[in-house]
Amino acid sequence: MKHLLTLLLLFTTIIVFGQADPGDYCASDSLATSPPVSLDKSAHPFCNLGVPDIVNNCKEVYVKVNVHFFVNDDGTGLTAGNGASNQLEQRDVFQKADDLVYFANQYMEDISSNKQLNQIPWGADTTSAQCVGLRFLLDEVFIHRDSNMDLINIGGHNDQYVGINYRDAYNILAVDIRRASGYAPRQGRYMVVRSFDQQLIVHEFGHSLLLEHTHFGNSNGDDNCFDTPWYKWEYDRYGDGSVIDSKKTCWNVSNRDASGTDLCTPNGTTVINPHPCCDSSTVNNNVMTYSAAAQSGSIAALTPCQVDIAMTELLKEKCDLIAAIEPICKPVSAHIGYKPNTDFSQDCSWTFYLRGSTNETEHRISYQKLQPDGTYSPFLDSDWLPGRAREERVVVGDDPYIKHGTVRLPSNSTYIMTLTTRNNCDTDHYRVEFTTGACDVGDQDDSPNPGPFHTEEFQAYPNPSNGPITLEYGIASSAEIEIYVGSNATNSFELIADISGYKLAGSYHHQLDLSFLPNGAGTIVVVVDGYPFYKQFVKQ
Ligand SMILES: [Zn+2]
Repeated sequence: MKHLLTLLLLFTTIIVFGQADPGDYCASDSLATSPPVSLDKSAHPFCNLGVPDIVNNCKEVYVKVNVHFFVNDDGTGLTAGNGASNQLEQRDVFQKADDLVYFANQYMEDISSNKQLNQIPWGADTTSAQCVGLRFLLDEVFIHRDSNMDLINIGGHNDQYVGINYRDAYNILAVDIRRASGYAPRQGRYMVVRSFDQQLIVHEFGHSLLLEHTHFGNSNGDDNCFDTPWYKWEYDRYGDGSVIDSKKTCWNVSNRDASGTDLCTPNGTTVINPHPCCDSSTVNNNVMTYSAAAQSGSIAALTPCQVDIAMTELLKEKCDLIAAIEPICKPVSAHIGYKPNTDFSQDCSWTFYLRGSTNETEHRISYQKLQPDGTYSPFLDSDWLPGRAREERVVVGDDPYIKHGTVRLPSNSTYIMTLTTRNNCDTDHYRVEFTTGACDVGDQDDSPNPGPFHTEEFQAYPNPSNGPITLEYGIASSAEIEIYVGSNATNSFELIADISGYKLAGSYHHQLDLSFLPNGAGTIVVVVDGYPFYKQFVKQ
């Protein structure tokens, strides 16, 4: 009963207050169909599998996706820097790609228990809730130096990013688009989106799998489905037979006319019949609309006909993109990202971003070093580390050691870094090969490049202290923060977990309880993306 009430409230809200967002527009209809890709089906294990078995048994089908971001031609700046949406700091795109996949998958899982509404009033075939087994698995995250792609026209500039180099995964291009929220050519292998809205992502993916808008037409209309209803409204406002044929959809509309008259409440004079869209049964919840009702995973739906079309296209024409079908648990992926201006042979420090890895519960990081005889030998190897892979900050210099997640690598050497991720039933790895330059930062506490940390804001007071001590620090951009406190005499440090974690840009103040420490000299360590900063204090 509670669910029904929620639904009714939502529909009421949409009809009374809802207005279409003029930017909420998918431009796929204006694009030519993408040419089919010739596929060697014998080379891919999931080609030629039967659609009915997968659909009827609600099997999950994981599709590999790449997410592409674009920055200035010189490699600097925010993503989509010339646009007005999709702006991100470069360091944040890897987590964003992981989030995009996570929330789109959640949406597809959620809509699996939902039924297409309003089939009866509009004369469509009535069907029950349709399971949606489509899932994404993040493959690669790219940051391209290409300011032409920041802000593009509908259908523009996409070819090089969906060419041969990226054809082994489905491609999501995160840009800003003039006059549209997104588009995806029918039958194509990419979408272009200006937001990470989960319905938009699934909607555009639907176009790539031959789904059409369920906007107009009749119940067996231009989307080739009999179970997607018709939504064009006609209105005889004055009861005199003069029908307004709006050719408009019955969602995201106001219940008032231009002069403010309530069209849902007949008054015997200016409103004889209520507007057809006042009836909540007219609201469309289909993913392939722009309806506000389709935004929510708890309401949106695809129909059996639509899922059959999509799965058939996927298994017939895009089976090379499938990573797994009905795996025992969610497949994992590993990814090592870095900013486009990272120059391994020149930089004294840089960050490897590991957040584009997906579904892992453990990870490990290893480095192999190239030997004079041309072979690689183990150099550093972490144990299995619990949790998600996050960041790895590398410093180039002699005397290799690991301290608080920072890796120090000798200069003028070639390495293969391997990230391995796993969960209970799957594992993946990703490798990057690079050669360090002549840089030597030496064994010092401060780096030439403090990253986002504001060293001048870093304070601990009172000092000396006979009670708690106040820690202040600031970061210029979001960062993974770990705060340790320890005694210099025992050289043991405790992670203060409740104030550690992923933090947004800003200034932070914490009162640290020192009662667990012996009197004497101690150290506070603030680790910013794996790079440590130290503050000495005395406990009295
Ligand atoms: Zn569309």
